[in-house]
Amino acid sequence: VAGRRQIGHADTEKVVNALQEGQLEPEVPDYTDYQAYVADGGYRIFREVAAGERSSDAVIDEIEAAGLRGLGGAGFPAAIKWRTVRDQPGTALVAINIDESEPGTFKDRYYLQRDPHRFLEGALIAAHAVGANGVYLYLRDEYDEGHRILNQEIAALQADPPADLPPIQLRRGAGAYICGEESAMVESIEGHRGMPRLRPPLVAQVGLFGAPTLEQNMETMHWVRDILEQGSDWYKGHGRNGRSGLRTFSVSGRVQNPGVHQAPAGITLNELIEEHCGGMLPGHQLYGYLVGGASGGILPASLADVPLDFDTLQEHGCFIGSFAIVVLSDHDTARHAALNAMRFFADESCGKCTPCRVGTAKASYLMAEPEWNEELLSELADSMVDASICGLGQAAPNPLNSVLKYFREELDNGR
Ligand code: SF4
Repeated sequence: VAGRRQIGHADTEKVVNALQEGQLEPEVPDYTDYQAYVADGGYRIFREVAAGERSSDAVIDEIEAAGLRGLGGAGFPAAIKWRTVRDQPGTALVAINIDESEPGTFKDRYYLQRDPHRFLEGALIAAHAVGANGVYLYLRDEYDEGHRILNQEIAALQADPPADLPPIQLRRGAGAYICGEESAMVESIEGHRGMPRLRPPLVAQVGLFGAPTLEQNMETMHWVRDILEQGSDWYKGHGRNGRSGLRTFSVSGRVQNPGVHQAPAGITLNELIEEHCGGMLPGHQLYGYLVGGASGGILPASLADVPLDFDTLQEHGCFIGSFAIVVLSDHDTARHAALNAMRFFADESCGKCTPCRVGTAKASYLMAEPEWNEELLSELADSMVDASICGLGQAAPNPLNSVLKYFREELDNGR
């Protein structure tokens, strides 16, 4: 099982066969270490920021001009968060979320195992820009290889620092999906049970150990150096169908080349499959696709020409989240994908609030029935959306609602 974690895109059958035959070759990519990163111009921007050659305002203005948004799933504009934290009284902290747990999402792992210093430099630049005196990294416990790489590379950075470094703390999660929610992550780092906090106050105001805290996803930090080095116009120059920026899609399901694919914001599913994924698997017709992993909803093949980005899927009752796409074919059903997602949320609900704790369990039960009680399921879905206190419970009904809206024939004809 430990070996399976290190395998790239091999499918389960191949892995099991390789394990049985003792032929398992771990596929650990080479990564850019500290020396190689510095040789390539790495940490130059951080040195400039630390030396005061680039002011906090100049850095945040450039991030704002680029339109960089939180890439963990929420899509909140990064510059607004940075200014909010900077403008609080007291010394701030930075907390980087690498607790990548959304089903079908593996982009953070991809970057971490190839170019770990790029996001570290981004985090250090962010710390300077918001006046933070400490950086916490919260790593998904299952990412053994990432843990080894980070330990090694943080030590190399600290042994030969490009400028004064704030303390960097590496913390491991314990496999709880909810600890990817920013306030639950803060609780977990503090040593408490990972449960979301009620707001206000925002984590940006009162976060880790009571300090204003800039909490950002790892990939968001990955882009900071490039934006400051090449300019906001470079980042914005990517994009399609009226959207701008670069996005990292984690694609799985019935395509020839699943995996991590960097693509322009606003690319459509049809374009993504044709240009990046080598088309559908032989014998499979596109039927639908999950967006945002288990959280964003399910769209039918008839909507495969919709631009994929933040804010573009709302009218369809979906959101792009972490840019994880699971491609379904005519061999799949949306109702089973939705049931699978709901069971996941029932398992991962932290139990703090009733609509989510009871709603996800009850919906899982009802969705496993041969005939759906649509009226009751719709009521449950509305209660979860309206009254859950965090994004898990609010998003949990999205796949269910998608089936009710777009895949009615499965319910009517029992497909
Ligand atoms: Fe916990 Fe679910 Fe409530 Fe979030 S919505 S606080 S996960 S019970």
